[in-house]
Amino acid sequence: MVGRYGKPRATRLWRLAGRADLPRQRLSRRVLYNGRMRAATLDEMKAYIAFTSEDEANVASLGTQVAPHLRAIADRFYLQIMRHPGARAVLEAEPGRLARLHESFADWLATLFCGRYDAEYWQRRAEIGHVHVRIGLPQHYMFGGMEIVWQELERVIHAAAVPEMEPKLGALHKLLTLETACMLGSYQLSYSEAVRLGERSAVQERLTRAEHLAHIGQMAASLAHEIKNPLAGISGAIQVLRDGLPADDERRPILGEVLRQITRLDGTVRDLLIYARPRPPRPQSCDLHEVVERVLTFLAGEPEMRRVRVEFQPEASLPALELDETQIEQVLINLILNAAQASPDRGLVRVRIHTNDASVHLVIEDQGRGMDEAVRQRAFEPFFTTKVRGTGLGLPICRRIVELHGGSIEVESAVGHGTQVIVELPRGK
Ligand code: ADP
Ligand code: MG
Repeated sequence: MVGRYGKPRATRLWRLAGRADLPRQRLSRRVLYNGRMRAATLDEMKAYIAFTSEDEANVASLGTQVAPHLRAIADRFYLQIMRHPGARAVLEAEPGRLARLHESFADWLATLFCGRYDAEYWQRRAEIGHVHVRIGLPQHYMFGGMEIVWQELERVIHAAAVPEMEPKLGALHKLLTLETACMLGSYQLSYSEAVRLGERSAVQERLTRAEHLAHIGQMAASLAHEIKNPLAGISGAIQVLRDGLPADDERRPILGEVLRQITRLDGTVRDLLIYARPRPPRPQSCDLHEVVERVLTFLAGEPEMRRVRVEFQPEASLPALELDETQIEQVLINLILNAAQASPDRGLVRVRIHTNDASVHLVIEDQGRGMDEAVRQRAFEPFFTTKVRGTGLGLPICRRIVELHGGSIEVESAVGHGTQVIVELPRGK
């Protein structure tokens, strides 16, 4: 009888199970690794729970009695497991999966009584364990399943009134404990492999992205240079043309619009240059309140600023700070314009300053449309914009300037409620 459940049939079926659910290459690499791991661990386990060659013979001797019942046990096992929605979802996720697993489980049960519990045996057990891991069968079902197997087999063995039952049941129980250890190992190895792979790809992605951005930066810088000078010439020429026209000439407004577009283009090119060729800050002692006031006055004429209400909350005891005023102005202009652009008409844009022992916080908040998590995550990426006329360079420039000042910049946002950008600058810098 043992022969019937011996190697040839088992090998064929295991291959079947493997081919059905795992790509061949990944399987063999993993199984080799697991086979090596398992040989040492399982030898140790066998010694630990005293699973002897006598036990091996005892389990094998049960084969004859249990064989006629194995199919029914496999059926009951699956009936039981399918009552659980979590397991059921996994087993029914792919057509034919349940039937394949059912078949390989029946074979797994039969092979339990093969009498040879060597490295090859455990390697094949691990192979089946990996199918469970790969299809995402939660680990606790394996433990539950193993208990059901035990209960079912024990019932059948009792009913068959096997002679010298106790040592045989004891040996079977030990073997099932080893099987549980083997399954647990499959899960553990797969999880740690998944974690390693996940970490590696995250790092790789960051590197590729950084290289990509560096290239874009270089290209942008040379392009911007090429554009900037002719742009100044064009703008000058158009001004001359416009000024030469009579005051009521209907072509005047057209030329005015051309000039406005040129100014916009010039702004974009300037941002590109600032981003691509950052200048190290030249810090000087300055009064941040004054910088904010100046920026707000400067921005007051902008159409998007006239739509919103602006409030400034200064800090009572603000020390003089060592900052590059021009650069901090740039940060403020970008953040305040972003806030205004996101705001509804009459929406409130608030600039707050407050300090603690170590740093100064400059907070720009609005009650505008906010950002969802996907936008928030990408907001500091150069060229990322959700605006028709955006450059996507405002926030990256802000971050670069703030970081060059030894500070940091964070965004908190809730869709439909508004956004807070918090710039933290070190005191005494
Ligand atoms: P741009 O303003 O040219 O789009 P930014 O780098 O300044 O580029 O901003 C990138 C993106 O971040 C914006 O397009 C917008 O989607 C989002 N964003 C920035 N500030 C805010 C804000 N205060 N409220 C909502 N979304 C914002
Ligand atoms: Mg912007």
